[in-house]
Amino acid sequence: MATKEVDEIDLDEEPPPLRKMTCTRTDCKNNRHCFLPDRKMSRRKQKGPCRTCGKELIDWTRLEKKDAEDVAYTVEALKLELIRHEYWCSKAIDPKAETLAYRTGLTRLRADAESVIRKSVGPHQHPAQGRQTKWDGNIIYYGQHATACCCRRCIEVWHGIPRNRDLTEDEVRYFIELLCVYMRHRLPGVTDAGDPGWTKPGAETVSKPIPRKG
Ligand SMILES: [Zn+2]
Ligand SMILES: [Zn+2]
Repeated sequence: MATKEVDEIDLDEEPPPLRKMTCTRTDCKNNRHCFLPDRKMSRRKQKGPCRTCGKELIDWTRLEKKDAEDVAYTVEALKLELIRHEYWCSKAIDPKAETLAYRTGLTRLRADAESVIRKSVGPHQHPAQGRQTKWDGNIIYYGQHATACCCRRCIEVWHGIPRNRDLTEDEVRYFIELLCVYMRHRLPGVTDAGDPGWTKPGAETVSKPIPRKG
């Protein structure tokens, strides 16, 4: 692709949106870190401290037990990583994903989560390893980033599952549980059966123009 000369750039043109979502951003003073090891840490097989501030904040042994009964701790730990925190707490679910999720309902979403997990991270190899999970478009993708089952690298770091083998049935089931915890959290009031006519409450009133008098 040809690069634009400086004087060719139209200053009135809207700048392209910055690629905000990256896995390695940190905001350590607000307790949002990144635990993906950098190259140096990986070479030393070092795991644990935040790559920016070096703090040890996570009980990895506890996390690696993958105990569905201990999910509250797992969620709190995940939220210490900036990117996961956004997916749990602040990133808005895009309207398409939100509507689809409420219409689909938890029973079907659970089945969908299972097939996504089996396809995208179940086998240890994937042609787009590390990039196989979109940032938005489906509540399951949101959940995968939130719970660190988006790619085999995040799975290895967070859940202690080596990258060089396929997931076991127990591991697949564990991730489905985590995804369901996430979906219940982000979709308050979602039903098991779903509501085919669901629209976002208040959405219609907002888009209706206000009638003018006179
Ligand atoms: Zn940090
Ligand atoms: Zn990942």
